[in-house]
Amino acid sequence: MKSNLGKEELEKLKEIDEELRKNLKESRYRHTVSVAHTAACLAMVYNAPLYDTMLAGLLHDCAKHLSDEELLKHCRKKNISINSVEEKNPALLHARYGAYLAENKYKVKDKDVLSAIEFHTTGRPGMTLLEKIIYIADFMEPYRNQAPNLSEIRKLAFKDLNEALKLTLKSVIEYLDSNKMPVDEITQKTYDYYR
Ligand code: FE
Ligand code: FE
Repeated sequence: MKSNLGKEELEKLKEIDEELRKNLKESRYRHTVSVAHTAACLAMVYNAPLYDTMLAGLLHDCAKHLSDEELLKHCRKKNISINSVEEKNPALLHARYGAYLAENKYKVKDKDVLSAIEFHTTGRPGMTLLEKIIYIADFMEPYRNQAPNLSEIRKLAFKDLNEALKLTLKSVIEYLDSNKMPVDEITQKTYDYYR
């Protein structure tokens, strides 16, 4: 595993960081950087490549500034699939469209980085290490403060990533249920797969 950032990699991360600072509102930008750093800490524990992790962390919400209408419009235009839950809740599409932007606007080629962005809101059965790290980092970064079992997940994440993933998925589903929000089929499948 490559644990140091090369000069070009540092430059690329800086470039993306500056672009995101321009595009995202302040609180979203803060969350973004926070996810990248939290994910980097997890990468250090679990031997994930640092650059890929930082890249995925920085870009995971790169389409989050778009409105529901814009996300639907862009996805239709680019022939990106939209399922029935996304049709009802287009904000979910920021993940898939974010992966599209990462590839086409930010020129990311690594498939694992792109899928970590694509699946950061739902997870999926059989997640890669990087996908798990981004999913969990998004949930537990220091500025998050809503979920009831955050401190448990934060501690667990550094000891047992799969247990932390299970608990995170459970929290997400409980949160959606208690707010009478539809649970994406893939989120449910992911939870069933890991529990
Ligand atoms: Fe997101
Ligand atoms: Fe996020």
